[in-house]
Amino acid sequence: MDASKMTETLNGLSSGEPDLPSGGRMTDETLLCHVGRRSRDHFGAVNTPVYRASTILFPTLAEFDAKKSAAVRYGRRGTPTSHSLEEAVSALEEAAGTILTPSGVMAITGTLLAFAEPGAHFLIPDNVYGTCRNFCENALKSFGVSVTYYDPACGADLSSLIEPNTRLIWIEAPGSQTFEMPDIAAIVELARARGIVTAIDNTWAAGHFLKPLTLGVDISVQAGTKYLGGHSDVMLGTISCAQSVYQRVRNFTAYLGMCVGPDDVYLVLRGIRTLPLRLKQHYQSGLKVAEWLAMRPEVLKILHPARPGDPGHEQWKRYFTGASGLFGFVIKPVERTRLAAMVDGLKLFGMGSSWGGFESLLIPTNPAAIRTATRWEPGGQTMRIHVGLEDPDELIADLARGFERMAAGRA
Ligand SMILES: *Cc1c(COP(=O)(O)O)cnc(C)c1O
Repeated sequence: MDASKMTETLNGLSSGEPDLPSGGRMTDETLLCHVGRRSRDHFGAVNTPVYRASTILFPTLAEFDAKKSAAVRYGRRGTPTSHSLEEAVSALEEAAGTILTPSGVMAITGTLLAFAEPGAHFLIPDNVYGTCRNFCENALKSFGVSVTYYDPACGADLSSLIEPNTRLIWIEAPGSQTFEMPDIAAIVELARARGIVTAIDNTWAAGHFLKPLTLGVDISVQAGTKYLGGHSDVMLGTISCAQSVYQRVRNFTAYLGMCVGPDDVYLVLRGIRTLPLRLKQHYQSGLKVAEWLAMRPEVLKILHPARPGDPGHEQWKRYFTGASGLFGFVIKPVERTRLAAMVDGLKLFGMGSSWGGFESLLIPTNPAAIRTATRWEPGGQTMRIHVGLEDPDELIADLARGFERMAAGRA
């Protein structure tokens, strides 16, 4: 969405209270406090209410006959609640339009399906989100789409894997278990020259620290379940599109009948207001915990692209303006019982997979298991940590006690 259109949206549909800066793109901090509210349409209520609707009534035959052009015409096709979130995410991602899906996975699979044709070839990173890989292996292939997995730290060298029927390149930056960083602009350049669609899983940067569409990526997908929602209580996905592909993906997801319940949409609209503020804290605290872990004798390496010396650091610096609270580290090989003594006794870290909430998480991972194009042999046990909004010094103290239990081999 360009700046003038955004200002029009804000003035036309929000409460109209703020005196908005003219020209230039406003910061996400300001934008997300105002976009997608439509207060004037709702008796001045600050937030767009939860609309529960299946049937939409038209008062006259003329309006019924013209319903195809109505903004709201059938519950599944969208309500002011879903339109508000679509608007907010489009503004965040600088997209022409956004489609909401019932989960992050459905945002991925809906996007892939929209470009799946028998005989097509897709390029997928070897470290891709596991359920996406399952979909490629078990569903896409049966539709006649072939898939090649590529080294997730690649860039222009990806051209050697492109085939005449390559239709789509999927990107994940960074991969959510091993945190390799591809060269996004180099991939976009080689894709564009050949008319290949590019799509990125932007969940880690949450649309705030990375703006893929401004780099020429066609589609940015997020698990809104993670940072957009931000409170570990909702499943939702977003597909944000450049103008060139928007109608295709919108139509396709409408054919599938995709829609999201209004309470879930509302929770994400509520979460997104504080996204930049939360991410700033996740970023700072995450780096602090990473620096502390890097000094520990138990730790072999840190997987965090925002740290100098990380293999992905130069790419991160080029394209990102910050880092979320999710990163990895590798500890020296350790017996499972000692690992259990560490993690079972943690007071502030939960053991769970869906990150992006306010709370901290720590899990062991096994990234080697799903790879086929590359190997993952870090020399020890890979761990994934989500640094939440707790006081980072208290998180560090909890981890320090965990390492003591690991050394003692008991809780
Ligand atoms: C969690 C996650 C998904 C899937 O989102 P769901 O809402 O759980 O379906 C996709 N990609 C990444 C990177 C994720 O972390």
